[in-house]
Amino acid sequence: MAWRFALMTDPAASDDDRTDFSTTFTEVDPSAPALTVGELSTQRGDGIFESIGVVDGHAQEVEAHLERLAHSAHLCDLPEPHIAQWREAIARAAARCGDGEAVIKLILSRGVEHGPAPTAWVTAATAGDFTAARTHGIRVVTLDRGYDIGVPARAPWLLLGAKTLSYAVNMAAIREAKRRGADDAVFVSSDGFVLEAPTASLILRRGDTFVTPAPNGGILHGTTQLSLFEHLALQGFATAYETIPATDLVAADAAWLVSSVRLAAPIVAVDGQELPHDAAFTASMNAYLRSPRD
Ligand code: PLP
Repeated sequence: MAWRFALMTDPAASDDDRTDFSTTFTEVDPSAPALTVGELSTQRGDGIFESIGVVDGHAQEVEAHLERLAHSAHLCDLPEPHIAQWREAIARAAARCGDGEAVIKLILSRGVEHGPAPTAWVTAATAGDFTAARTHGIRVVTLDRGYDIGVPARAPWLLLGAKTLSYAVNMAAIREAKRRGADDAVFVSSDGFVLEAPTASLILRRGDTFVTPAPNGGILHGTTQLSLFEHLALQGFATAYETIPATDLVAADAAWLVSSVRLAAPIVAVDGQELPHDAAFTASMNAYLRSPRD
């Protein structure tokens, strides 16, 4: 039986010197209404979020997620999050997760039109079952993202690289992938470079080197990819950030989509063309990703 937990947070200013934020949290019924109709997160998707994987009550890579939350807030001109307050909120949510896999979401919205603002809340819920994707792999199609690799530098107002609540386009890409008979999509820039998936980072293997698209190409810098690169480097593998032509994807020795909750899903086909898949290696990656990581 899936369960849910929700905590509303009265967001503290980043220079608030309290060390105990317990009075700033209110547990709310996750199935009851909790937001006002003036919420800009619901009206315009104007806010940011994080999804944190939880395994047996341990929230993974909390600091990396908090750093990215602060980075997204900065890109979106949202008030700087008080990291200690969010850390405490995550700890409260994680304490309720129990055994198995769960997901904690942090949401920071611009708030209600004409105030109060911002609005923040945290949810925790049972994670889906991703065993099939992790063990048998996923088929992907490449989809044009419609802009070139230079756009993030030219047009920062597109908020590329921020984890905003505006995921309608990402969800539409997954629906398009399914219409084409695949499980997921890999976005390609209009000038022919692979970027990321709608909800995951892309990692390619070439011999003993693992590469991922450079985050300055308008993609989200994945916490799972960062964590895996550290792990792979400790195993003696080379890792690199590159601008990767789409033609490299089908020529890779292996490829994965990696993210906080699904973890490493090996790509077994790209646009109908089969890709090699080393099930034992993927299993070792996922064993690492399921172990407590900080
Ligand atoms: N890229 C996008 C667009 C995402 O939405 C996500 C996660 O949701 C990722 C990459 C992977 O990020 P992480 O590994 O931190 O979950």
